[in-house]
Amino acid sequence: MSPLVVAIDGPAGTGKSTVSRGLARDLGARYLDTGAMYRMATLAVLRAGVDLTDADAVAAAAARAELSVGYDPDHDRFYLDGEDVSVEIRGEAVTKAVSAVSAVPAVRTRLVEVQRKLAAGEDSIVVEGRDIGTVVLPDADLKVFLTASAEERARRRNDQNVAAGLPDDYAGVLADVQRRDHLDSTRAVSPLRPADDAVVVDTSDMSQAEVIEHLTRLVRDRAGAKR
Ligand code: C5P
Repeated sequence: MSPLVVAIDGPAGTGKSTVSRGLARDLGARYLDTGAMYRMATLAVLRAGVDLTDADAVAAAAARAELSVGYDPDHDRFYLDGEDVSVEIRGEAVTKAVSAVSAVPAVRTRLVEVQRKLAAGEDSIVVEGRDIGTVVLPDADLKVFLTASAEERARRRNDQNVAAGLPDDYAGVLADVQRRDHLDSTRAVSPLRPADDAVVVDTSDMSQAEVIEHLTRLVRDRAGAKR
């Protein structure tokens, strides 16, 4: 099979990460989590102690950060200035600030450039994010946009939190999901929306295994058509 580029976009809580990882595993492809890159940039900004409303200072702090990411869907590790921050970037402080940092145009320009370089290569790759099909890799072989209702996404996220030992707070999680959806879809640069040629998959009533199976089939059809 010649190398394929698969773009997977969609809002938080659609199962995007699990599905993208599973798909990469099934295809024997590399996996790139661009959300983790925005999270690392955000951690760098928080550590620099700059005012999040000062776009120039945010961009400067993010530009100084040295980001290193892995491609292995079974072992995704993230290094900021040489330090393993894989756990810290999932924490509350980063999650709360990441929309503000990722709305700064200069931050996006730099990360998009890095993402394009990382995605290039001889091997197939599954790239997960918000603007992969629309901005980062508009020539991807397959573009998928995952959706699910805000309530279903909040329920899934809350269940994950409870399983991880965090408090049961469906209402709080739902408010956070809606807040992030709003910020991500209304920002001026690269708002979250499906590419015109994306396949939109509503995962509300599908298991993650079903979604992975469905996408694997779509990729194999595209690969057949490409040959
Ligand atoms: O996917 P994840 O929830 O880890 O992404 C964290 C945040 O990073 C998103 O809420 C969004 O603000 C931002 N992001 C983005 N563009 C991407 C990936 C993530 O703006 N390609």
